[in-house]
Order: sequence, then structure tokens, then C-alpha cells
Amino acid sequence: ATPMSIMVGMGRGANMGVLIKNAEMLELMEKVDTLVVDKTGTLTEGKPSVTGIKTLGKMTTDEALLLAASLEKVSEHPLAEAVVNAAQELTLLEVVDFNATTGKGVSGEINQQSVLLGNKRFLDDNGIDTGDFNSLSLSDNSAGETLLYMAVNDQACAVFLLKDEIKPSTHEAIDQLHQAGVKVVMLTGDQQGSAEQVANQLGIDEFKAGVLPAEKADVIKSLQADGHVVAMAGDGVNDAPALAQANVGIAMGNGSDIAIESTGVVLVKGDLRGIVRARKLSKATMKNIR
Ligand code: ADP
Ligand code: MG
Repeated sequence: ATPMSIMVGMGRGANMGVLIKNAEMLELMEKVDTLVVDKTGTLTEGKPSVTGIKTLGKMTTDEALLLAASLEKVSEHPLAEAVVNAAQELTLLEVVDFNATTGKGVSGEINQQSVLLGNKRFLDDNGIDTGDFNSLSLSDNSAGETLLYMAVNDQACAVFLLKDEIKPSTHEAIDQLHQAGVKVVMLTGDQQGSAEQVANQLGIDEFKAGVLPAEKADVIKSLQADGHVVAMAGDGVNDAPALAQANVGIAMGNGSDIAIESTGVVLVKGDLRGIVRARKLSKATMKNIR
């Protein structure tokens, strides 16, 4: 490879908002046949908002929101930010013994009460009887909301519904990737219902919900073992192991610093159409060299 055409290619990429960090990445892009994507913050805006609160027993929605927001104030997860934003009118309470479990949820003590907030698995892991939530008739989750479950003093007591919109550019990006013959696989830590909704809306080829960060890297390994050249696009701290495992790691410019540092390609504006542009650029550059 002549350094000059590579430099030109990288410069063109930068002009289009696609930062390609080295020659190897530019060379590899044209060979990518499978794109693995994270959902939250990659396909979606990553800025969810609370659209509903359902409570059990005597707890009011305001009480539930106060406890949840007080707890999430300490967390940096996008879902946490949504819960805190929904409680702007409330004066938050002090939390002691805060603890965050990656891909699952958060816990802490508020006014001598132990509070757990996260996905169903997180509450199950902590021995909560999540069967109590069945009376809330959440099964018709047709809007594809993400559900956050809360328990106070080991008692199931509230569910928060959060909605994260798909980025306007994502539909076109997925169509363009398909036209270019790239298979798109979505891996998300989110639940089946909301994952399915997003996958169906976008025409994603394959998806897996409830995936822990380390498992994302394993899925990429097995795709590679089947002979695929895999690019992984993600935005979060959680995605770092998967981004490192992929042949080409692609960070969303709107994402976390760790993601940006651990990848060979950065999409400055978080626009996935940049991947198709980078592949074209790679093809053109390599043709020039050969
Ligand atoms: P994704 O792969 O979609 O980026 P994560 O791995 O970050 O998702 O999180 C997976 C799931 O873990 C979330 O959908 C949520 O149910 C739960 N979770 C993670 N962090 C938190 C938090 N701070 N508060 C509540 N739930 C959380
Ligand atoms: Mg994410």
C-alpha cells in the first residue's frame, strides 16, 4: 500500500465525518461483510425519556419516581439520566451504599430503605418475587418501551416505561448496508420486547436481547470463526470488549471516551451511514493501490 493514497483516503474520510485512525482499518473496511451494532445510542438516539410509571400496592407514582431518581442521580447510564430528568420537580434524597451492576441495574439505601432498580433479571438475581409485577399487565408492550423494575425492601413496587427513539439516519443506513451486501446483527443488553420492536422497524437481519457486555465479544468471535470479517459499532463503555474483538471497531462520536479510544474508526456525528461511505472509500483507495 502506498502511504500517499492511504493518506488521501483518510483525509477524504475525515471530511465526511469518518475518522479512520490507521491504514489497516482503511484496508479492512471493504472486506467487512457483517456489521454488529449495539442498539442504545447506536441505532437509537441514546436519549430515552420516561413515558409511564406503574406502581404496586400503596406506592404513588411520585414516591416511586423520587426513590428511583435519587438512586439514578449517581449513575451515568442513559436510562439513569432519563429517570432523573423526569424528576426535575422533586427534591432528591440522599443515597448511601450505591452500587451499579453493569448491564443490569443499580441499588442503594435511601432513608433506611433498600432500593433496587434495573431489569427483571437484576431483581430476580436479588431474590425479589418478580411475579408480583404480572398484575400490572405489561405484556402488551407494543410501543417497545424499555422497562425498569423497582423493589423497595425486597418488595416489587414499581415499573418505569422508557422510550428511546430511532435516529432519523438509521433507517437509510441499514438499507444502504443491505444494498452493499452487509449483514446487520444487533446485540443489546435491553429486553426482548424493545429489542424486537427496533429490529422489526429497521429490518435488522438478526438480533439478540439481554446480552451482557462480555457476551457481545463472544458473538463476534464466533462470527469470525465462521469466516466473517466483522465490524462492530457501539457507543458505550460496555461495548469496549466487543469493539476490541471486532476486525474493525467503530465508535459513535457522541458516545463514551472509552469507546472512541478503543476503536479504529470514529463516526463523528454518530451517523451510521458513515460506515457505507468508509467502505466505498476503502474500495476506491485499494483499487488505486492495486
Ligand atoms: P445496551 O446494550 O442497550 O447499551 P446496557 O448493557 O447498558 O444496554 O444495559 C442493559 C440493561 O441493564 C438496561 O436495558 C437496563 O435494563 C439495565 N441497566 C443498566 N444500567 C442501569 C441503570 N443505571 N439503571 C437501571 N437499569 C440499568
Ligand atoms: Mg449502549
